[in-house]
Amino acid sequence: MYLLYADESGSPSSRHFVLGGIAVHEQDAYPLARAVDALFAQLPAACRFEELHAQQIRQGSGRWQGIAKARRERLVDDIARLLLAGQPGARRHPALFAVGLHKRSFPRQNPYERAYEEFFARCNGMLGRLASRGDRHRCVVIADQSRFKLESAIQTAMLGWRERGASTGAAIGPLSAYAEVPLFVDSKASRLVQLADFVAHWVYRAYEAGDDSVLTRLAGGFDQEEGVLHGLVHLVRDHRACDCLACGSRRPARE
Ligand SMILES: [Zn+2]
Repeated sequence: MYLLYADESGSPSSRHFVLGGIAVHEQDAYPLARAVDALFAQLPAACRFEELHAQQIRQGSGRWQGIAKARRERLVDDIARLLLAGQPGARRHPALFAVGLHKRSFPRQNPYERAYEEFFARCNGMLGRLASRGDRHRCVVIADQSRFKLESAIQTAMLGWRERGASTGAAIGPLSAYAEVPLFVDSKASRLVQLADFVAHWVYRAYEAGDDSVLTRLAGGFDQEEGVLHGLVHLVRDHRACDCLACGSRRPARE
């Protein structure tokens, strides 16, 4: 069984909506969460039990106000390293996934549902490749509560995606890897949902603010095969003119 942790990034007025997350094997989930706790145990007392909230850590806001920028940047480095390598002794590396959707490129679609179905399809694709090698797994999605109140819409949509494939994306077959509808939880309760927030935030920073300082470090952790970043998708009308990591990795196959 794989657990796909997911979180959203973006606001109603932002140009992009991002879903980001990590897929981990069931046996690696608990040790990975404890590895995050171990990083936090090294922090000053005010933040030791704080939520891993990527935006607050970057900005030094909330509980992170009193923490020096260099210390916050070191934490970001440590988390990026953990996401790339997994915790010591892990069976498999976490696989990162993210979809950055440029909202104005999809004026006739619900941008949020479009991003969710693409995101779920990407992990479904990874599990399909594993299954073709005899390594079969189902998957359960554990997502942060939606800031756009999408929980019931996404749960309902998943039933259709599971049976018939995606409704709006091109050539997305049935998402048969999923054992359940997505489960939404409060991110406070789960270190791994907080890691999903970290991925989503830094993908959002890359697309919305042109700050790819952390995304470039995470690039090797996204699900990929033969140089194509299957796990990182930029949904934008003019992808041929886009030089982001995701669009660039697909270009040789398209042209
Ligand atoms: Zn792009």
